[in-house]
Amino acid sequence: YRKDRRNRMAQIIEGSLEKRPSHCPSCGVAWESTKDVYAHGTTPKKRVIQLTEINNQPTYLELTIRRSKCRHCSVVSANHLPNYFVKRRKSISVKLHLKVLMELKNPTNCKKVASICKTGYQIVYQTSLQIAHYINDLDSRPLPRVLAIDEFKATRDCEGAMAFIAMNWESGQIHTILEDRRSHKLLEFFNGYSYEERCKVEFVVMDMNAAYDSMVKKAFPKAQIVIDRFHIVQHLTNAFKMIRIQEMNKLN
Ligand SMILES: [Zn+2]
Repeated sequence: YRKDRRNRMAQIIEGSLEKRPSHCPSCGVAWESTKDVYAHGTTPKKRVIQLTEINNQPTYLELTIRRSKCRHCSVVSANHLPNYFVKRRKSISVKLHLKVLMELKNPTNCKKVASICKTGYQIVYQTSLQIAHYINDLDSRPLPRVLAIDEFKATRDCEGAMAFIAMNWESGQIHTILEDRRSHKLLEFFNGYSYEERCKVEFVVMDMNAAYDSMVKKAFPKAQIVIDRFHIVQHLTNAFKMIRIQEMNKLN
């Protein structure tokens, strides 16, 4: 236990990152034995990563990072922490970053989130800026020539029972995900685009949902509806299965 730089009593977990990568990050040769690589001290500074709190106290991981020197190219490199744990050059763990994101979902302010997550104001502020940029990028994305739409069961905290997904059929990129698949919500979203922009959609690929049919005709006046092969096969399979069960039940 020690005071952190925000003058709060914190839990410090000390350790050393010993695990050496399997290959040289510089020349790519496999590091199999001491003939390929040898230990070369540690980085001058310890790596400090803030984790999610433990026992309501800010928690830090303080790591001594070992370095290795490649015998093939003589390049010294520091051992790397896995990306799922902490991103490069970040001072907080991925899990703590996700916690900040979850807190930012609620109408709140950065100072409050920083205090809940026991982290710094700047970290929360930068994260909120990232979200703002991300959302702006989504908004300005033009409508594709071929739009594929469907619904899916999303997370429990969604407003609607089913969520909505739209994809650029040609590029395979997700265009948008909405938490409510009801027609009026979809129209509200697509009507955010200008009439000209909506006319650029030539084909809408979808299932046999009648509600979408009228929505598509309203939102994309020039588009032709294409029933997607997957849904035709699925429909046939279901019909076939129903008949099979009916027939089977007749037999005692
Ligand atoms: Zn090397």
